[in-house]
Amino acid sequence: MDNKFPGKDISTEDLKSKFPLAAKKNKNHKSKFKISGIEFGGETIPIFAGPNMVESEKLILDVAKNVKKIGAHFLRGGAFKPLTFPYRSKKYNETREDGIKWLGLAKEKYEIPIITEVMEEKYLPMICEVADILQIGSRNMQNYPLITACAKTKKPLMIKRHYGSSLRDWLGSAEYALIEGNEKVILCERGVSVPHTHRSSSRFLLDLQVIPAAQEVTHLPIVVDPSHATFWRHWVEPMALASIASGSDGIMLEVHPDPENSAVDPLQPINYENFNKLMIKMNKLAKEIMNRKIL
Ligand code: PEP
Ligand code: MN
Repeated sequence: MDNKFPGKDISTEDLKSKFPLAAKKNKNHKSKFKISGIEFGGETIPIFAGPNMVESEKLILDVAKNVKKIGAHFLRGGAFKPLTFPYRSKKYNETREDGIKWLGLAKEKYEIPIITEVMEEKYLPMICEVADILQIGSRNMQNYPLITACAKTKKPLMIKRHYGSSLRDWLGSAEYALIEGNEKVILCERGVSVPHTHRSSSRFLLDLQVIPAAQEVTHLPIVVDPSHATFWRHWVEPMALASIASGSDGIMLEVHPDPENSAVDPLQPINYENFNKLMIKMNKLAKEIMNRKIL
């Protein structure tokens, strides 16, 4: 008997033996939990917005003020960054620990919760003082000791999908967090790598299909990051809207006051004005079509 879900590599046996905690217990099983007063997996679709990198105190305070005013629920920003190439600006090397402190200042001043990436276990204590959600980056999706260490802190965790990973392997990573008794685990789709011959557009391809696919098998909330997926700011709006229409439980967006001069990936952030316009459109779509809301 075929016990596979159509078109997928997950069997009913996997649900029982590979990721019993991440798997849905019944058709309507959906995790709902609050992080800093904001519900995930419910009516509201939380929005994470902010720069790729916490470049300076001035920048992060300005972004916090503006994205909060526009309606973002969380401030995003990497202090510890998994940069693809090692030739870092002096600024980067100087701002990693300070970046966490600046996120703390922004959180306090503008009362906005924080999501930031963890790269190394040794920085967890200082990051945990400030972060409301710990982000496991795409590149660390299968760094199981790091996931375990993060999960043990009992802080909510968001696991970005590795760009070469199947849904099955991604759920395996989530299981490593859940097995520690940490129930606040969020998944984040951020684009996958496709073979060169099939590459129609950019470095990554946003896997919109994985949203309904994941929701068939897991109760965990699934967030989408169209900024990293498209790598190109002009495509962020259509892909953010498509993500909402596909059933995404949250959206992560790169927002910067001066996108062209962003220290990292200057092609992908959107400015405040476009973020505001996008928030209004996403909210309209969420309300009118998806029975949910953003603002
Ligand atoms: C990020 O969100 O800053 C990031 C580095 O994303 P990813 O891990 O998806 O590349
Ligand atoms: Mn990035």
